[in-house]
Amino acid sequence: MSKLIFRDDLKELDYKAMGLLCGLEIHQQLNSGKLFCCCPCNVMPNDSFDKKISRRLRFSTGESGTIDVAALAEFKKGKFNEYIFNDEIACLVDLDEEPPKGPSKPALDAVIGVSKMFNLKFFDKVQFMRKLIIDGSVTTGFQRTAMVGQGGYFETSQGKIEILGINLEEDSCRAIERFDSHNVYSLDRQGIPLIEVTTGPQIYSPEQALEAATVIGDILRSFKQTRRGLGTIRQDLNVSIIGGARVEIKGTQNLKLIPEILKDEMRRQKIHLSIIDELKSRGVQKVTSEIFDVTSIFKDTESAVVKTNLEIKNSSVLAIKLDNFTGILGHELQENHRFASEVSDRNKKHFPMIKGLFHSDELPKYGITPEEVESVKTSIGTTEKDGFILICNEKNIAEKSLNNVLDIINQLISSVEEEVRQVDPKGTVTKFSRPMPGSARMYPETDVQTIEFDSELVDEISIPELYSTKLDRLSKSFGVDNSKVVDFLDKYSEEQVSSLISESSKTGTALYSIIFDLAKDIKKRDKIEPVDFKYSLMLDLAKSIKENNFNQNSIRDIFVSLYKDRLNEVSNLQDYLEKNNLISEPVDEVAVEEKIKEIILKANGAPFGAVMGMCMKEFAGAVDGKLISSLLKKNM
Ligand SMILES: [Zn+2]
Repeated sequence: MSKLIFRDDLKELDYKAMGLLCGLEIHQQLNSGKLFCCCPCNVMPNDSFDKKISRRLRFSTGESGTIDVAALAEFKKGKFNEYIFNDEIACLVDLDEEPPKGPSKPALDAVIGVSKMFNLKFFDKVQFMRKLIIDGSVTTGFQRTAMVGQGGYFETSQGKIEILGINLEEDSCRAIERFDSHNVYSLDRQGIPLIEVTTGPQIYSPEQALEAATVIGDILRSFKQTRRGLGTIRQDLNVSIIGGARVEIKGTQNLKLIPEILKDEMRRQKIHLSIIDELKSRGVQKVTSEIFDVTSIFKDTESAVVKTNLEIKNSSVLAIKLDNFTGILGHELQENHRFASEVSDRNKKHFPMIKGLFHSDELPKYGITPEEVESVKTSIGTTEKDGFILICNEKNIAEKSLNNVLDIINQLISSVEEEVRQVDPKGTVTKFSRPMPGSARMYPETDVQTIEFDSELVDEISIPELYSTKLDRLSKSFGVDNSKVVDFLDKYSEEQVSSLISESSKTGTALYSIIFDLAKDIKKRDKIEPVDFKYSLMLDLAKSIKENNFNQNSIRDIFVSLYKDRLNEVSNLQDYLEKNNLISEPVDEVAVEEKIKEIILKANGAPFGAVMGMCMKEFAGAVDGKLISSLLKKNM
């Protein structure tokens, strides 16, 4: 009987029986200014960079023993790195032309505060270390990182989770583009402080993982030094099951996907283990194969992909034979991701130029005909029980690549290995990224002084209100839902929003609509790009709205005018409004009341809401809703 497990067999997972262990590693960016210089923490559009430098890494002997083999190979090929930047976001420190300053005090305060909320035991002295990074993603060739303490914990509804350590470190560059000759990076992200929180493996279910990540995010967001927005927090998952291996999953963008990503990884390891068992029962422990040249079979092929590959100089179609492999290569490990896809992904890390890797479980396909498949089988001598893989490229490369494929298969059929995987941005499928790095060799960063973590430094940092508690509190106080509170707080402080509400005499909802909906509406209907008003202007506007009793239409006209003039602050708003004829005549309340009485008569006993709707339509934004409502109540 086949030992192969299918995805459908694993719809329900018994986490305990499967021995799920999971830990989290969360990286949160700060907005405190860069860690070792005075540059701001702004990630900018790629076309705003007007400067670039090129660098080549050099190694001194003795260091190369512990570094990434793939990166070392690229370096040996003469690959260089290009860094793009502008004066706003990078300085001599970022270019590694000047020793680091700092570290940033607000960043240090934040990591102390965060650590306190996780009950961490601080070290007496904290030393920044250099962790070797040779892929070019940092100009120095190393990342500076400091562990501030160990042995903390936090609670979830399913139990206590340990904090193994909390680090303060610098972020690396953003990768812009990769070429064969060089990589292009932007310097804006490099040096932005990161707080890294690493938990122990006390997470035993996907739901608990989500809860743990939510609690950690809640604590991190409680600090004003926390950066907001897409990409400012990164969640990595460490996952293993019995018989499997610890796999690190990077690139989880959406917290809500964590449970599904975890379940998918459990299924992937379980199915992978079943493939190993199945092959063992078929007597396959190791694969070997001669490399066959089957080019002549494809001489007149109709397959576009094979044809294109055969246009390469000295190209061939080469094949390997895999005894007793039928059904294995096409077996699904994740949705639409098969054993052969795993092989292909790994092979591409060393042979990125290989565009097509075809296997027996999927052919005929891609324009390769049943006759061609039969000819391959006859030519290399496979039976119904066997499988084969075809690669078409320059003969020399195809040959090396197929030998590499054999190595990959031999590794995959012997065990589930520890590795790093990347989540596909579209969903929960993960792809092989690289082998699990060994613990990197670290050197003390002698340019940054050791920090004494005495009680003076630690005690002066107070613990802020938890972010979720704050949202609930402000939701009540502003009279809007939590998501609107988040929008408000992205723009202004709590105190500023409160002032705007009281100075404008508007409700939180009405103010929200003025600040957020109006801008969208003007952009959509008038095709004018909004301007981000400074708080001082917004406050003057709020005061003016109250003083002049502006209605929706007048407020809209003022915004349109300010947008057209591209103003984000105005020294004398009243002057500006007068000069631009933006102060409308005050509403004639008597006339409005007369009109309302007429409408009430016409409505002929219709309920309040219906009459209100009729009035709103009649005045079309020229009269404030509050006034209409009060006049209606008076007269109905
Ligand atoms: Zn700088």
